[in-house]
Amino acid sequence: MEPELEHALRRTLSWSSLGEPEHQEMSFLEQGDSSSWPSPATTTSSEIIHGKRGGKASRWTRQEAVEEGEPLDLEEGPPSRPAAESTGLEATFPEATPLAKAAPLARVGTKPTGWELFPQHSAASAASSSTDDLEVAIEFPAPEAWGFELEGPGEERPAPCPSPQAPLLSLGWEDELQKPGAQVYMHFMQEHTCYDAMATSSKLVIFDTTLEIKKAFFALVANGVRAAPLWDSKKQSFVGMLTITDFILVLHRYYRSPLVQIYEIEEHKIETWREIYLQGCFKPLVSISPNDSLFEAVYVLIKNRIHRLPVLDPVSGTVLYILTHKRLLKFLHIFGALLPRPSFLYRTIQDLGIGTFRDLAVVLETAPVLTALDIFVDRRVSALPVINESGQVVGLYSRFDVIHLAAQKTYNHLDMSVGEALRQRTLCLEGVLSCQPHESLGEVIDRIAREQVHRLVLVDETQHLLGVVSLSDILQALVLSPAGIDALGA
Ligand code: ADP
Ligand code: ADP
Ligand code: AMP
Repeated sequence: MEPELEHALRRTLSWSSLGEPEHQEMSFLEQGDSSSWPSPATTTSSEIIHGKRGGKASRWTRQEAVEEGEPLDLEEGPPSRPAAESTGLEATFPEATPLAKAAPLARVGTKPTGWELFPQHSAASAASSSTDDLEVAIEFPAPEAWGFELEGPGEERPAPCPSPQAPLLSLGWEDELQKPGAQVYMHFMQEHTCYDAMATSSKLVIFDTTLEIKKAFFALVANGVRAAPLWDSKKQSFVGMLTITDFILVLHRYYRSPLVQIYEIEEHKIETWREIYLQGCFKPLVSISPNDSLFEAVYVLIKNRIHRLPVLDPVSGTVLYILTHKRLLKFLHIFGALLPRPSFLYRTIQDLGIGTFRDLAVVLETAPVLTALDIFVDRRVSALPVINESGQVVGLYSRFDVIHLAAQKTYNHLDMSVGEALRQRTLCLEGVLSCQPHESLGEVIDRIAREQVHRLVLVDETQHLLGVVSLSDILQALVLSPAGIDALGA
């Protein structure tokens, strides 16, 4: 176990009360994603799809674990899945908290329903689904907002234009961490398990590594999911994830010009791509157990700089769910409202200095999409504020938006400008979701949770860029910093 985590967890043991939120029935339902999913330009009929479409919940309740007595249905999935191979990363997970240990274990050998395996030769399904497996809806009335009523970005007024690199003061944060109650969210996340945050129903799409990469990316689009676990039938285990970042990496590597077809996309299988790209140094699948704490989930996501964390059944090795920053923040936002409110939520973003304010990666709206892809690869950032010639923020181009190139089959036209790519987004979010330095952390969290985006762009009153406040920054601050852990900076 990593010393910093061990230290943090030791502290947990002395903590005893959460104000009963763990006894809440944490009921999340699936709903459409607020961020639009592109519709495929043309749809193809599915050739082979294994697994039940839109089936039942992948989250297993105690009741289900007891009641589900039907024999295993192995026809539609891969054969028996042994426990996931223990990876170095998994070995570093701290011991489960007492509550975590009390969480139910999945039945041996069962698999979640509602998942789909795309084997070799299967084509993208024609089904267009607005369902995203990573979003949550709340079954009960949302608690009062953390902050105050929110306002939109301030009206444009002439004001001096600060440099985008201007640092914000963060003197207040260390002080805030010393105050009583500063650890309330850290404790909450330590006392709850990944199982608690899993949706009762979700769609899971799984790709066999022998599937062609082009079909795989089309299948992400057709199914409205952002990522898929990769199943290696030779190893009989999950070996990685396929995400939109991988689509970016493929385009970045093989794109030549609008006139030259990217034949590698047509021909390569996922396994071929992984062999070429990873050159033998295969990063093991980073995963987590349903019994592990949400604190660990936050740590693993941020430390590994990934955005998709599969929850694996420790016995069968089956993927039960995919956790994301959004899901974790949503969980914390809902149940955190039942907890005593720490004073730092009333402090401004400027005072606390939560976010990134230097070396911001941006893209000009007139720049070609290829430039944006280069920046995504070089800087490993999840999104780029889009800037006009006056230096004002006019949009946001996120890694997610790149999947539109697959949806519209325009990935051979990377000379298209970023501004044009944003305009082509179907049902796009209007403008940019932003915050200002004088807004409180509570307000910012309310907005980011409500809008279901991964970050807000920090701007001044004239829409000039000051920073980026991402879910990684917020979860680091709320959950890890109180434990003395800096997974983001490490
Ligand atoms: P995105 O933001 O596009 O969803 P990620 O940041 O999650 O992508 O992924 C970055 C890289 O890490 C990708 O190459 C992806 O395949 C890989 N990756 C993502 N999640 C995992 C995981 N749980 N285990 C191993 N690799 C992962
Ligand atoms: P993911 O769930 O993959 O992390 P993102 O939140 O990055 O997805 O992006 C989902 C959609 O929301 C994309 O179309 C992206 O451009 C848009 N989006 C994300 N953040 C903002 C923002 N701050 N302002 C405007 N649009 C945003
Ligand atoms: P994310 O990948 O969005 O979860 O964020 C990881 C870290 O990168 C956070 O500290 C963000 O503030 C930072 N970050 C996100 N986008 C940018 C960007 N465009 N430029 C610089 N830093 C960024």
